[in-house]
Amino acid sequence: MGLGRFGGGQGVTQWLLKQGCQICLTDLASDSQLQDAMKPLLPACGTGQLRTVFGRHDESDFQNTDLVLANPAVPTPWNNPYLMAAREAGVPITTEIRLLTERLDRNRVIGVTGTNGKSTTASMIHHAMRALGIPCLLGGNIGGSLLPRINEIDREHWIVLELSSAMLWWLGDEAGEGWSPGTAVTTNIAPNHLDWHETETHYRRCKQNITRFQSTGDTNFTGAEVPDQDISLIIPGRHNQANAALASQVVAELGGVTLPNAAQALHDFPGLPHRLQAVDLQGRIFNDSKATTPEATLLAVEALGPGRNHIHLIAGGYDKGVSLLQIAGLAADLGGLYTIGSTGPALNEAAGDRSRNCGTLEVAVKSAFESMKEGDVLLLSPGCASWDQFPHFEARGEAFMSLIHDQQG
Ligand code: ADP
Repeated sequence: MGLGRFGGGQGVTQWLLKQGCQICLTDLASDSQLQDAMKPLLPACGTGQLRTVFGRHDESDFQNTDLVLANPAVPTPWNNPYLMAAREAGVPITTEIRLLTERLDRNRVIGVTGTNGKSTTASMIHHAMRALGIPCLLGGNIGGSLLPRINEIDREHWIVLELSSAMLWWLGDEAGEGWSPGTAVTTNIAPNHLDWHETETHYRRCKQNITRFQSTGDTNFTGAEVPDQDISLIIPGRHNQANAALASQVVAELGGVTLPNAAQALHDFPGLPHRLQAVDLQGRIFNDSKATTPEATLLAVEALGPGRNHIHLIAGGYDKGVSLLQIAGLAADLGGLYTIGSTGPALNEAAGDRSRNCGTLEVAVKSAFESMKEGDVLLLSPGCASWDQFPHFEARGEAFMSLIHDQQG
């Protein structure tokens, strides 16, 4: 139930096919919306092992089956009529994260949750562990399902799982036997995802499932209890200092290294792909292609401060009809603004003489390199979607990084 337009259910479907399961894949989205996500699964349709019901759900598919596997993003699963029909028919219900945790030694699992900073903190723990030569895999709400890699996991491995609040509901005792990881890490908790949880109490209760089923000897780390450190990072921002302080505490304790050694292992952590990602080790070039709104661009510029005249910003893209005046207003203080895409000409016009309309990313990177001085920073943070020139923001970010590598020879 729920392949997801971005293919969230692909990994588990492929794993179940490999186990020899006969599968009915059903999703409320239409055939055309699911076309891309279905591509890797099409061979199984050809063999008859996989059948699809898209654009609707059929109650009988939930009743006449050995197991229902729901995508954790399905809203309010506790009162979903199709899941209720399965329950009434005595059909067990599970989800990918439960199938995974049932196959892992919970003492080797580091579960990471929180309202903000989950992906960054989980990735930092994984990065530092590997830098220290400690076998470690990253999964959960990040980077696809680990189920297809289950046979690679041995007793030496640490498994870092980013756990969303919805996944934690599925791991709680309302959905079966309660499960918590041997090591729980919570970055911070503030009201969020009230569309899924309906109330703040429900949200908090789900987040607390990360420790609720722990036993003696298990560990629990929270962002609030970790002392500030001054950690040398190439990615900017106070929030990343907080994430790094928490990650290094976890790595020091579990990896048996000193806190400074754990923190040192983060010195080249590049950040998450396309999210203010450091493209070079000197922290001079950042790929923030994910920034598709002017607000996100403003935050990126602020994070690279204090001051702005060392920042060369590449912005512009697909025209969603949103005002870009906030970005134009930055131009006077920047080292330079290089505009691209459909919104480029108007943005350039509004920004004045510190701006150049470059049209393409290629010209923008070239012009910026010509103007940059020692110590200056180049930032791709378009404030617009990418669809006028690229299939998606990831392709735009990849193109940027490849242009940078060409420039640097
Ligand atoms: P999540 O996985 O929880 O969504 P990410 O690590 O992907 O979080 O970060 C998403 C955004 O959340 C960042 O771009 C930043 O703006 C903000 N953020 C990250 N870490 C923190 C933190 N520790 N406290 C507050 N905000 C944060």
